[in-house]
Amino acid sequence: MWPAEVRVDLDAIRQNVTLLRGRTAAGVMAVVKGDGYGHGMVPVARAALEAGATWLGACTLAEALELRAAGISAPVLAWLLTPGLPLHEGVEADVDLSVASLAGLAEVVAAAHRVGRPARVHLKIDTGLNRGGALAADWPPLVEAAAKAQADGLIEAVGVWSHFACADEPGHPSIDAQLEQFAVALAVAGRFGINPKVRHIANSAAALTRPDAHFDLVRTGIAMYGLSPIPSRDFGLRPAMTARARVLIAKRVPAGQGVSYGHTYVTPKETTLAVVPLGYADGVPRAASGAGPVAIGGRVHRIAGRVCMDQIVLDCGDTPVAAGDLAVLFGPGDDGEPTADDWARVCGTINYEIVTRFGSARVPRRYD
Ligand code: PLP
Repeated sequence: MWPAEVRVDLDAIRQNVTLLRGRTAAGVMAVVKGDGYGHGMVPVARAALEAGATWLGACTLAEALELRAAGISAPVLAWLLTPGLPLHEGVEADVDLSVASLAGLAEVVAAAHRVGRPARVHLKIDTGLNRGGALAADWPPLVEAAAKAQADGLIEAVGVWSHFACADEPGHPSIDAQLEQFAVALAVAGRFGINPKVRHIANSAAALTRPDAHFDLVRTGIAMYGLSPIPSRDFGLRPAMTARARVLIAKRVPAGQGVSYGHTYVTPKETTLAVVPLGYADGVPRAASGAGPVAIGGRVHRIAGRVCMDQIVLDCGDTPVAAGDLAVLFGPGDDGEPTADDWARVCGTINYEIVTRFGSARVPRRYD
């Protein structure tokens, strides 16, 4: 019997991709960075492509190369490229590379020279997130240099792209402002002869709420994993991840017992404590101490005291609980179990962080 596992429902991934495709005329880029938000990058990528996604979004070059090593040949964009990376490996593997500066372009051009083949490039404009991307003042010289490199056969300017800051807050004025900046950047690029095949700016939130931001491609991550990018809104998505474990030990203790490190929780009355073998080394946020919800047999119990590295303790009151019982931390919520959104609320974080933490730790993943 397994002690703990993360189950990933690949059918849910496929359903969510199908739902997203139904809401846009643009292509769908499945964002599989961060080990597929904890769901497993390669299996998620395969499921998303089966359901009609046409691109993959990998943050790092290493992630993109891992997709290629797994035999996946769909277009892959890598966008977080620190100076000095072996970009020729990306060019050799037909990985699309994001470029946001003249220095970045020079590196890509050098890689293209080395491989003897044009590099596939997506030019990134910073429209207001103030993270990656060229600032408006640096954009004309960048697209001019890119146009020259394209004319010289050293790059193919496949895309022009940007990223929203506040798409998860529909109506936020920055969304329109960023779209305006994006339109200006596209027009400037066009004047220099850069007319990319794919223009893209929308993440899940924009894919679901701003059809005017779809352009040629939407880059969807969280929605594909079945979680709402706007937790107050239900888009009919199906959560793909379930985190669960077997109760290790259940014991009856008297009132007045301090539980777990620091004795921050003291049993208010005689009660049953259940120890579950998942802790912060497995992705359980320590911020869930004293509050994280866990379902056993359809009843939701709370973490008593501090989350430990490898274990949590639940106060189950007078509910009969025994070693070996199934404890579900979160899942789709169909059987009354908590969801990743419940955990995010309790921990003061976002659903993205809950699933990404769980999947990247030592708990085995199993695929349905
Ligand atoms: N595009 C970029 C550049 C990202 O960094 C991310 C994720 O953070 C996404 C798209 C996907 O965002 P979401 O998971 O909100 O769809």
